[in-house]
Parts: sequence; C-alpha cells; structure tokens
Amino acid sequence: MEIKIPLYNDIWMDNAVENLYALLKDFDDEIGMDINKETLMINYESKGELNDLLVNLVESNLFNLIVIEKDRKTGEKKEVKKDFILIQEGKKIDGKVAFKENIYKEPKKATSEILDLIEKDGKKTCVMCGKTFSKPYKKLQQATYPFVTKIKSLGGVRTYKDGEFHAFREYHDNFCPKCYLIGILEWLDTRIIYRTFIKEKKSVIFLPYFDNLKDLIEFKGEYAPLLNKSERYSNIRVNINENKTERTPEKFSTLLCFYEKFLMDIESENVVGKDWAIMEIPLGSVKNIKLRILNLTDSTLSVIKEMSEEDIRIYGELINQIQFYLNNPKGSSVDFETTNKIREKLSKSILVDDFRNFAKTLVPRKGGNVGFLKENHAESRQNLETLIYVWRLKKMGISKENLGSIKSVGNIIAKVSKNNLSLLYKLDKTRNIGEFWGVLREISRKLIGLDLKKAKVRPMALDELIHILKDNEKQWEEIRDLLVVYSSMYYAIGSRGGEKE
Ligand SMILES: [Zn+2]
Repeated sequence: MEIKIPLYNDIWMDNAVENLYALLKDFDDEIGMDINKETLMINYESKGELNDLLVNLVESNLFNLIVIEKDRKTGEKKEVKKDFILIQEGKKIDGKVAFKENIYKEPKKATSEILDLIEKDGKKTCVMCGKTFSKPYKKLQQATYPFVTKIKSLGGVRTYKDGEFHAFREYHDNFCPKCYLIGILEWLDTRIIYRTFIKEKKSVIFLPYFDNLKDLIEFKGEYAPLLNKSERYSNIRVNINENKTERTPEKFSTLLCFYEKFLMDIESENVVGKDWAIMEIPLGSVKNIKLRILNLTDSTLSVIKEMSEEDIRIYGELINQIQFYLNNPKGSSVDFETTNKIREKLSKSILVDDFRNFAKTLVPRKGGNVGFLKENHAESRQNLETLIYVWRLKKMGISKENLGSIKSVGNIIAKVSKNNLSLLYKLDKTRNIGEFWGVLREISRKLIGLDLKKAKVRPMALDELIHILKDNEKQWEEIRDLLVVYSSMYYAIGSRGGEKE
C-alpha cells in the first residue's frame, strides 16, 4: 500500500511534508519512501505496520513540543509547552503538559482512526489537497493549519490582507484526514526557527519555502545542527557545538543571525534558501497570526556570504557590537531598548537591501549616539568598513582614493557637528542633488571657523568630493549615504561612547 503526498505549494503544508519525511527517515531508514520534486510516496506493507510506525514516531518526538523549566517558586522541574505551538493544552498533570489534541494525547487510537479514514474514498473534496475523501477526522483548525483564522478563500491561492489570512466558515469541514495528519505533525518539526519575546507577548517563527520538495529537504537538513530544540525562547545556537542560544532583539536580527551561522558554521551548503514565511504568533488566547513573506535577493545573500568569506560574523561581530550611548555628563551609559531597536533596524536594512535606512539609523539622535562596544571597537569598525565595501563600494566602482576623500569629509562633518547636529541632520535629509550641493557649501563655510590643526581635518577633501560628485552625479544618493555613515561613525568616535582614534 502507499500514500501519495503532493507538493502543496503552501508554506505550512510543504514544511509539514518535509517534516514527515525527515521524521520517518530518522526513525527508520529502511522505510520505503520515494521523493521527487513534487511528490512524497510512502510505501508500507500493512496498515498495522504504518500505524505502529506513526505511534512510535509521535511518542518518541513528543518532547520536541515542550521544554523543561524550573518553577520559580518551588524550584521543581516542570514541563512547559513551547510558546508558539498552537495545540491546545489542558491542565498539567504532575507537572507534565497534557495536550488536548488526540494524536498527541492518545496517538495509538488517533492514528488508527485516521488511517482508516484515509483508506476510504468519498464525495467530499479537500480544500487543501483537492483530492476526494469520505469523512474528515477533524475540521480545519489553527492547530493543523495556523493560517486558518479568517481565511476567505482556501481554493488555489490563499489570500491574506493586512498580514492576516481570511476564510469562509464552510471550508473548514472539507479537510481530508491525510492533510490533517500531515499538518498536525508539523509541530514536531525541529527545524522551525523560533524566537519568543515574553515582554512583547509574542513568538516569531520562520519557515523556509521552495517550489520543490527536494531543495526544501536539503536546506532544512543542512541547517538543522544550528538549532537547539530544548530552549524555550530561542533556538539558534550561539556556537554550533554548544547549547546556549542567541537573544536576538527581533525578527530581522534573528534571520540575519541565522544566515551568519548558516554560512559560517555549516561546512557545505548545497542549497541556500532565500524565501521565508515569518509568522508572528501572539502569546495568550487570541491567536491572530501575522504573516510576512520575505524573499531575499541574490545580491543580499552574496553580501552576507562575502562577509563570512572575510571571516566576519555579520551579526555577532558587527550588528551585535553596536550600542546606543546616552549623552550623560557622568560618563557614557547604554540605552538598551534603543540599542535593540537600532540593531533590528540595521539588520532589516541589510536583509531588504536598504542602504538609505542603514545610513539613517546610524545618525546621532537627541540624547545620544550610536557607537561600538568598547572592547571590540577597532575590530567592529573595520567590520563596518568591510560591509560598506562589499555592499556598496564594490558595485559603485568607487576607488580607494575617492573613498578616502569621502571619509575625510565625513570627518569634517563630524567635527563641525560637535556642538550642533543640524548640519548632519540636514545632510541626512537632502532630497535632491541641489540640496546636497547646498549642504556641501555650508560645510565649506563652517570650515572657516574650525581650528584645523586641532580638529585634525583635511580641508582639501571637500574639493575632492566635489569632483567625485561632478563625475558621478547619478550616484549622488549613494555618495550622500556613505557620507552620512562616515560622519556618524566619526561623530561617535569623537564623542562619549566611542573610543578615540
Ligand atoms: Zn487533503
């Protein structure tokens, strides 16, 4: 007998198919399975045999759904359901999680009923796979298919609006037992990347997607060692051989952190995924799931890849080294909340290839400025320079000499901005080349009032920059953004919170 499972072209279901394949293969290498780009075929001798296999598989992987925590009051160890898992839970029994879903509560009984139903054909048509069936095992619910909440149309392309899915009620009954089985087991998937934020009352999970099963299987298999499934709040390991996991500030930083590890710590990457579903799952009883699809471009991936080839951890050794220092007369102190926001914005800018926002995020603001963690200051600065080189300069074709001029003007701007940031803000806000010329004229006027020797600036650089700009008028925005980055960097160095050069 055999069960044929198609490629669904659905993020959740395709990950679920891959998961079933991985679980079965991991459990029993001998099992007859055929996989190609569009189908998974499971062959088995008898229903009893498959039933036993499924029961064992659920029972031996049930711990993937929970973590062990110490009770804050009693110090006793207890089980906690992972925060993002949408399976309903009853009252704990002896500190153990009690799932309400039959397949996790009484796997033997449930799988046998499900397999019986799968064997029978009928007149109903499944909204998920389009095949006919006789009776649902359970109607379509969030636990089996998280996007289900308000889905308007489940036929063909599923629509979502304002980050939420919509649907009609009547579809919920037309859900076949095979799709139920596949969908509900996806929670056992240990390759779902997750990060839970208790304060913000949400979890974020990441699912990769492809248009074929083979690449999905390969990619998830490749990155599996990076994840530690027994941690509650995050599963990306800080070091691949250790259990400690990262505490990234938000979703984009989590994904950037993932890529850093994937490209640096996995020895051979045959398939590098770049399409993701990012799901935000609120903690608490109402589960309106927000979905964001992120498709990374080849050029974004190549930037992260080049950084890792330069042996630079783009998250750990650059983004995570950046802090927001408050202007405090008693010495610098770090504003951790703003720091997290800045790290997240910078991560997002890299992932969506938005250098404008990257530059903007580094501009000093009221009350303080961005700087590097003191211990690794010189190294982090070098890493930022490398990032700018691989991300922008290489593509722009700007020579090292010209870059030197841009940096020197950045230094001038930082110096004249010491007591008044309006010029730096003005530069950041220029909307056209005319305004940009205006700012450059203003810099030239301010130079007059500067003690050049004391300030250690090179006034000639301004003339050089004017030449560069004349020769590359079309790239004026890029040049402005580079100037913003370097001005902000030199400003940070010259003020509290950054080391002196
Ligand atoms: Zn179906």
